[in-house]
Amino acid sequence: MRRTRKPKLAVWKFASCDGCQLSILNCEDELLAIAGEVEIAHFLEASRASVKGPYDLSLVEGSITTEHDAARIQQVRRVSKYLVTIGACATAGGIQALRNFSDVQEFMPIVYTTPEYVDILDTSTPIAHHVPIDFELRGCPINKNQLLDAISAFLHGRRPNTLPHSVCVECKLRGAVCVTVAHGIPCLGPVTHAGCGAICPSYDRGCYGCFGPKETPNTASLSDRWLHLGASERDLVHAFRSFNASADAFRTESEAHEKD
Ligand code: SF4
Ligand code: SF4
Repeated sequence: MRRTRKPKLAVWKFASCDGCQLSILNCEDELLAIAGEVEIAHFLEASRASVKGPYDLSLVEGSITTEHDAARIQQVRRVSKYLVTIGACATAGGIQALRNFSDVQEFMPIVYTTPEYVDILDTSTPIAHHVPIDFELRGCPINKNQLLDAISAFLHGRRPNTLPHSVCVECKLRGAVCVTVAHGIPCLGPVTHAGCGAICPSYDRGCYGCFGPKETPNTASLSDRWLHLGASERDLVHAFRSFNASADAFRTESEAHEKD
């Protein structure tokens, strides 16, 4: 069926480092094709020009860390037909969610000379804790191919093809030798969502869990394996508490190894 107008795409930033938005701009070869299919109506990282909503597809980067942003995401949801969260900040609270395990007010005077001007929430929370979302793209940063597939999927009314399997499958697909089996190196790959293409294992390093928990991750079993390889309880807390520290499965597992 012939479209009468191009679908409108908007990209929104909340608490984040902009790395996922840069991943969109890094789609150099594909960006012109995307621009031909959609109207890039709001994307301040790329252009100051902004076209009024409503928008057919909103990509949301970043977590909610202020009252202002908690209200702003409600408005973004209202003007978006589909809302897809992109990256560990938006899907799990990001590295800034480490504050969820501490008292952020304690850090304030250490970090800022005038903390009375800082107005933030005690927690960093994913977008899905505030509004209904249509799809989540994991990773820190996101994977370009998964992003392009998700944009195409929502514009054509199909489900994205993002696979829910673990990084271990990606190791097998690229023919990488397992660093745990071959060298006894602890690796988060068995519980981590695919998307990076097993970059770290292919350079003889264990997976850092950038893409967060896969579907039904057996984190307790993996932790037992790590302890067997010589890792400490503290190592496990640090491993599960990084970019996706507040994702349910990783948060629960890190808390299980935290000693008072
Ligand atoms: S997920 Fe990572 S790359 Fe993306 S905005 Fe957050 S910190 Fe940056
Ligand atoms: S190196 Fe890590 S991700 Fe790759 S197969 Fe081994 S455990 Fe899985």
